[in-house]
Amino acid sequence: MTQTRTRPLPDRHGYFGDFGGRYVPETLMAALDEFEASYKNLKKDRSFRAELDEILTEYVGRPTPLTEAKRFAEMCGGFRLFLKREDLNHTGAHKINNAIGQALIAKRMGKERIIAETGAGQHGVATATACALLGLKCVVYMGEVDMARQELNVFRMRLLGAEVVQVSSGSRTLKDAINEAIRDWVTNVRTTHYILGSVLGPHPYPMVVRDFQSVIGREALGQLRKKVNMLPNVAVACVGGGSNAIGLFYEMLKHASIRLVGVEAGGRGPKLGDHAARFSGGALGVLHGTRSMILQDEFGQIAETHSISAGLDYPSIGPEHAYLQQIGRIEYHDCSDDLALEAFHKLSECEGIIPALESAHALGWLLRNGNAIARDSVVVVNLSGRGDKDVPQIAAMGA
Ligand SMILES: *Cc1c(COP(=O)(O)O)cnc(C)c1O
Repeated sequence: MTQTRTRPLPDRHGYFGDFGGRYVPETLMAALDEFEASYKNLKKDRSFRAELDEILTEYVGRPTPLTEAKRFAEMCGGFRLFLKREDLNHTGAHKINNAIGQALIAKRMGKERIIAETGAGQHGVATATACALLGLKCVVYMGEVDMARQELNVFRMRLLGAEVVQVSSGSRTLKDAINEAIRDWVTNVRTTHYILGSVLGPHPYPMVVRDFQSVIGREALGQLRKKVNMLPNVAVACVGGGSNAIGLFYEMLKHASIRLVGVEAGGRGPKLGDHAARFSGGALGVLHGTRSMILQDEFGQIAETHSISAGLDYPSIGPEHAYLQQIGRIEYHDCSDDLALEAFHKLSECEGIIPALESAHALGWLLRNGNAIARDSVVVVNLSGRGDKDVPQIAAMGA
């Protein structure tokens, strides 16, 4: 197989080419160094890996199945389609893979208090779950608007013993919740670890989160080898911050024959404010500690974003994605709200699987563009989460 990558990234300073790095207040530098050093040691530590593996197997439910979706595939173009079932993880999405990993690191570092941000509430629930399991105190920052939209997840986090702090500044959504979490961390850095939920933020987060999520693609390649004895021709995943996508793609990057497709939220249309498609509408900038592609206005103010799915509704994208887009290894497209909704219904009706609205973006792209994929291809889609959380929203829309 052709290798497209010769040296591992990020570099020592946390850069993926022009993207990444560590743009944080001085007070956090030592904490990030400590986190990075602990991670590097624990990665090689047998007892740490055994503990993580045990939890992933016996608690999270890994390995997740790889399900062939024959009826849905017929509607897309007739190739063989496999769904990587991250929706079957405990708590219903891929986020738990990272939350458990980071909570275990925090515990080994002797930090007793965990903070996290959450948008839709999925990362908050995953973090609250990991903290309940490991006996850590948990505080989750969440925008006021999101708390109203995702009431059930707020209740869930509280049931799990977490404190949910309402953020009423700015647009009162995810980006403001991250600002508050960073502020808390600056104040309480000695006792507290910040569990970031995607491949975003200052180094080493994009690397650590990627590594914990890369189990998705490692399993998928092994499962495909058993089922069809080949590499996939195409792999598709939705991209919010980018953790489920890089999780699926990471082990595939070195196989140049695999076409990798990331799908962003096309929202209502291409006007700034109506979508969260960072590659078609964004520009280089720094947000929340990392340098990447960001949706911003002509004065560099962070733009409002829109998506039918809260998990894709973020103005920036992980720096490794920005790099992989720039070198042309991954192609990025977007899928509109309407198309995602269509795929949401089609998968539910044809396969008996209600996907998360986020994952429905990957399926929607395939529904629209699958005809251009050869019929003898093998395609794998990351079903990043289950749609139960979205049912009240769908019901309210009458859609
Ligand atoms: C949070 C979330 C996403 C988006 O986040 P990534 O970091 O891009 O994976 C996608 N799907 C589901 C189900 C989510 O909960």
